[in-house]
Amino acid sequence: MSLFGTNGVRGIANEELTAEMALDLGRVIATLKSGRIAVACDTRISSFMLKSAVLAGIMSAGCDAIDLGIAPTPALQFYAKNKRVAGVVVTASHNPREYNGIKFVQENGAEFFREMDMESERIYNSKTFRVAKWNEVGSMVRDDCIEPYVSAIAESVSLERKFRVVVDCGNGAGSFTTPEILKRLDCEVYGINCNPDGRFPARNPEPVESELELLKKAVVDFRADLGVAHDGDADRAVFVNEKGEFISEDAMLALMAKHYVEKNGGGIVVTPVSSSRCVEDAVREAGGEVVYTAVGSPVVAKVMLEKKAVFGGEGNGGLIFPEHLLARDGGMSVAKVLGLMDESGKRISELISEIPRYYMLKGKVACRDKEKVIKGLRELFPEANHADGARIEFEDGWLLIRPSGTEPIARIYAEGKTKKRAEELYKEGLSIIKKLLD
Ligand code: MG
Repeated sequence: MSLFGTNGVRGIANEELTAEMALDLGRVIATLKSGRIAVACDTRISSFMLKSAVLAGIMSAGCDAIDLGIAPTPALQFYAKNKRVAGVVVTASHNPREYNGIKFVQENGAEFFREMDMESERIYNSKTFRVAKWNEVGSMVRDDCIEPYVSAIAESVSLERKFRVVVDCGNGAGSFTTPEILKRLDCEVYGINCNPDGRFPARNPEPVESELELLKKAVVDFRADLGVAHDGDADRAVFVNEKGEFISEDAMLALMAKHYVEKNGGGIVVTPVSSSRCVEDAVREAGGEVVYTAVGSPVVAKVMLEKKAVFGGEGNGGLIFPEHLLARDGGMSVAKVLGLMDESGKRISELISEIPRYYMLKGKVACRDKEKVIKGLRELFPEANHADGARIEFEDGWLLIRPSGTEPIARIYAEGKTKKRAEELYKEGLSIIKKLLD
């Protein structure tokens, strides 16, 4: 099994991800890169331990380290881009409290792409990292990535209207940035769970609808225009409308994609094959084109760079604004959504109601032989998109069959104009896998 997953290394702290591993991972990035390397972490209890080990590893391999303290992942990435330095984030993003993770960042602010992670893993496994002589060991300075990030976002949007916004940072790293961004945009801000706390006492770091009852209620009680919640490292943002209703992440992705295509008079939008058809509908209607990738934010960013895309993102609240940063950015998402509300003069529920609606079903099924299924899918559906499994398009929906790389399962996604159609397509997916495994 590989150490690096879709978003770097993840695992339960001190069991699957230890201080020793963090030390070696610090050495790995310092072997791949020269010059200074910036490191930040989220609010998790194990983050200081792991960050200290990463910093030690970087210095032991002869690079100078920059300790940025606690910061959202996009704040570190923005710093990396502006200072042209590589970076490391210690975070498990949306995973439960016992987890942590280590993710590498390029000098352009993007996450390491797949092939770079593979090279890192090779150095990690072979332990062929650089070891500096006693007098060539690196030094360390502290710096701040919060203020430049907050001010860049606040300056990128100007609002005519005064909005009332409730923000739920889930006790994560966004507590240091999003309330301040909103204040600088002259919003009336109500913060819940905006005190950093690595025990995550209020809710799980993943901002799924069932975790956001308090936010929904607060939006109604305070008669707010918008509610927003982040995951633990605030690269994702999910929203609640002025009626206290959760907004589907796919619909928000479609809305912002459409807005960017309209603003640019066309252009390419990049999203994984798992995203709703509503994104493609909205983008096409605005005169743009969708390019599908495999699942995972690094590959979305990579293809955005290659295709010079105007916008990109995932259907989980991860939106990418390429003129700002080639990475998901929760703080920028809030600012841009408010910018669109201001520009259009419409409420968020009105804007979202203009996005076509679909019903999506997701599930998984046992799949012992990944290669066989992939080969079979290519033969059976040569016309499908094979970026990640097979996405098969129908007039009124689509079906994605995606064998997992790490578990003996295949994921099935089915989407239709009606719930009934989605169920039919899902059943179709089950029978295709069964046939391919026979
Ligand atoms: Mg995250």
